[in-house]
Amino acid sequence: MNTILVTGGAGFIGSNFVHMAIAQGEKVINLDSLTYAGNLESLQAIVDNPNYRFVQGDIGDGLLVDQLLAEYSPDAVVNFAAESHVDRSIEGPAAFIQTNIVGTFNLLESVKKYWLKRAEADKNKFRFLHVSTDEVFGSLGETGYFTEETPYAPNSPYSASKASSDHLVRAYHHTYGLPVVTTNCSNNYGPYQFPEKLIPLMILNALAGKSLPIYGDGKNVRDWLYVEDHCSAILSVLDKGKIGKTYNIGGHNEKSNLEIVYKICDLLDKARPRDTGKSYREQIAYVKDRPGHDRRYAIDASKIKNELGWVPSETFESGIEKTIQWYLHNAEWCHHVCDGSYRGERLGLVSEE
Ligand code: NAD
Repeated sequence: MNTILVTGGAGFIGSNFVHMAIAQGEKVINLDSLTYAGNLESLQAIVDNPNYRFVQGDIGDGLLVDQLLAEYSPDAVVNFAAESHVDRSIEGPAAFIQTNIVGTFNLLESVKKYWLKRAEADKNKFRFLHVSTDEVFGSLGETGYFTEETPYAPNSPYSASKASSDHLVRAYHHTYGLPVVTTNCSNNYGPYQFPEKLIPLMILNALAGKSLPIYGDGKNVRDWLYVEDHCSAILSVLDKGKIGKTYNIGGHNEKSNLEIVYKICDLLDKARPRDTGKSYREQIAYVKDRPGHDRRYAIDASKIKNELGWVPSETFESGIEKTIQWYLHNAEWCHHVCDGSYRGERLGLVSEE
């Protein structure tokens, strides 16, 4: 059994990762400050598992992180904690600079101190895995793919802050020898995703009879990956990835936003037909484009496939079907997110300051 300090484990991808790691027999310490994106209801099923411990706190709190590292002696730190929503970064970039850049820096400082104190034999066994995004590469034209060699060209405050954290992580390896690996993944979808992101927003708005807002002409293309495939890729990189390297993770599922929304409407038409008998497509409404909206992202994931043997298990067809079924069968989770009650002591789990 390994002990993993997971940061941001109450968020979308982090909570899916925590479930997977616990199911594989790992011990997980989940450090999360519980911003609006952190939701302990996503972890309710494992809250009593003796291999799981939740700690509310900030990755930028050096004293707390030092304490956790000393107390649990983790074999790995997996850093999911971040501000992650592009639109919010346009409205208010400061929190993105604070958590994604300053927070990651503070975390690296604590981890470096902890790692330097480890016995020589244990030093190389340790990993700091930094979870990042393909958005650091900027926008593609009609053709081509992001590889690990693509130069960084971030276009939003979100992607610029993630790019900056990636550079810090790289520098801590080159300068101090910290055994890091970084993953750059495409857009994720699946269970426990906060409904400000495209897919859950469209599912929940459709079911609530609200409009389905599409930016610009709806032709912006993203490469979509089912979240559990992202988590299995991270576990694979943790296990077999080469120290100091970066790995692109993607599903070869390029879809325009409009294609995604049509697909969701068509699946909901079958699973939960509207009373009127008309398609949910009727609820689509085009809205003004996001400023600086990147046109296309697409990942070349051949390195992780060739070096580590990782390939996704889900196609887009199977993943989106599973996702819709999850949102249909987890109405309580959805209601609590929509009415804000997920942020309280209702579960008796949150130690509010
Ligand atoms: P999310 O917004 O759902 O979750 C982020 C989590 O981090 C939340 O639980 C939040 O409370 C926590 N957090 C925020 N600031 C913190 C701080 N200062 N200290 C401790 N915890 C803090 O994000 P997500 O979609 O799960 O993304 C996780 C990571 O994966 C991010 O680093 C993101 O950049 C990256 N990523 C996301 C996607 C995607 O499609 N969602 C794709 C590629 C990479």
